[in-house]
Amino acid sequence: MREVSLRDSNAEMAGGGASESSSHGRRGFDYLIVGAGFAGSVLAERLAAGLNKRVLVVDRRPHIGGNAYDHYDEAGVLIHRYGPHIFHTNAQRIVDYLSQFTEWRPYEHRVLAQVDGQEVPIPINMTTLNKLYGLNMTTEQEAADFLAGRAEPVEDIQTSEDVVINGIGRELYQKFFRGYTRKQWGLDPSQLDKSVTSRIPTRTNTDDRYFTDTFQQMPKHGYTKMFEKMLAHPNIKVMINTDYREIRDDVQHDHLIFCGPIDEFFDYRFGKLPYRSLKFEHKQLEQEQLQAVGTVNYPSEDVPYTRISEYKHLTGQIHPKTSVTYEYPSAEGDPYYPIPRPENAELYKRYQKLADETPGVTFVGRLGTYKYYNMDQVVGQALALYKRIEEAERGPAAG
Ligand code: FAD
Repeated sequence: MREVSLRDSNAEMAGGGASESSSHGRRGFDYLIVGAGFAGSVLAERLAAGLNKRVLVVDRRPHIGGNAYDHYDEAGVLIHRYGPHIFHTNAQRIVDYLSQFTEWRPYEHRVLAQVDGQEVPIPINMTTLNKLYGLNMTTEQEAADFLAGRAEPVEDIQTSEDVVINGIGRELYQKFFRGYTRKQWGLDPSQLDKSVTSRIPTRTNTDDRYFTDTFQQMPKHGYTKMFEKMLAHPNIKVMINTDYREIRDDVQHDHLIFCGPIDEFFDYRFGKLPYRSLKFEHKQLEQEQLQAVGTVNYPSEDVPYTRISEYKHLTGQIHPKTSVTYEYPSAEGDPYYPIPRPENAELYKRYQKLADETPGVTFVGRLGTYKYYNMDQVVGQALALYKRIEEAERGPAAG
């Protein structure tokens, strides 16, 4: 990866050196990519290595990697600046693709929830129920019967509250979901689309893994190292600390790939797309370990944070100290979670239509498409977009 300052970059574009002209034989870049997260970095790598395109990647943050950025803190512990990122996927092709840039360390994420003064597994499983209710269930059937006895059937499931009450009843809903969701989203589950709580399963067995995907692993040397390798191609230049708006009139490019917020690109023409944000409080502790698992959730509204994550569980780092992050949900701040409400989906559609009518720019990634995507899904989306570009250039037979 080469990082260039705006002046360097302009100087290069103004002439001289191997990077003077694009593959079309004129000055500038074939592609300007806004955002050095998964979406932008995958596309940069593919366009440079697969189609020999000249690519400039800009990011307004002082680093590459987007929300997956990790770094060593002052104590020397590897932490994730934007909260814990656990890689999990069922897609072999996505693992294969990323494996070109990193080795992996197996890691299965486990989460405990602090409820009624105890730490119990979440997603709720047989162990959770046994601990909370002082039971000794041993078969899945017993656990299923227990939950069925508490479920309160909801005829027309619309909201996040409906889904949970229908599945496991009001008491467990209140212990695990109501407060957490109200904190996380600033909305009551009854005001939120069913998709939010549908994502969290309830298990009748003792499986206490947070995810059940086929592949659960962390980049062995961290995400940032992986991004550095992805962006190391000589056709790629990277400018950090650079907002698209600062350079858009100066950088010649044939195509623009925009991984930032779609509403921002169009100067909020139809109004702001609502996002939920988080404030991260990173702490270094003078002890080797704080908690038993990578993340402990705090569903109670008595504490303002939603969860505490301890990175050494994720990274396997051996260190005499430990570092943790508290997450405080917030209405203000960086855009993290699109708020899944029907009126927001409608607003996004208006921007999407505008995007379709705007030539020369493609929107991709979590912010570009206003979708809650995991990392693997963003990689998949970027690879699919690359395939379309490749087919358009080489014809549909391209592999
Ligand atoms: P981003 O990573 O957000 O990258 C977009 C980049 O564009 C940013 O760096 C931004 O600075 C830059 N940008 C925006 N506008 C401009 C502009 N105008 N000019 C220049 N640069 C600009 N996924 C998982 O799979 N597992 C997890 O455990 C997980 N945990 C998460 C925890 C949290 C707290 C959050 C918020 C997300 C989590 N995710 C997780 C999701 C993951 O972060 C995303 O899937 C991934 O980061 C999306 O990549 P992206 O490239 O679309 O966006």
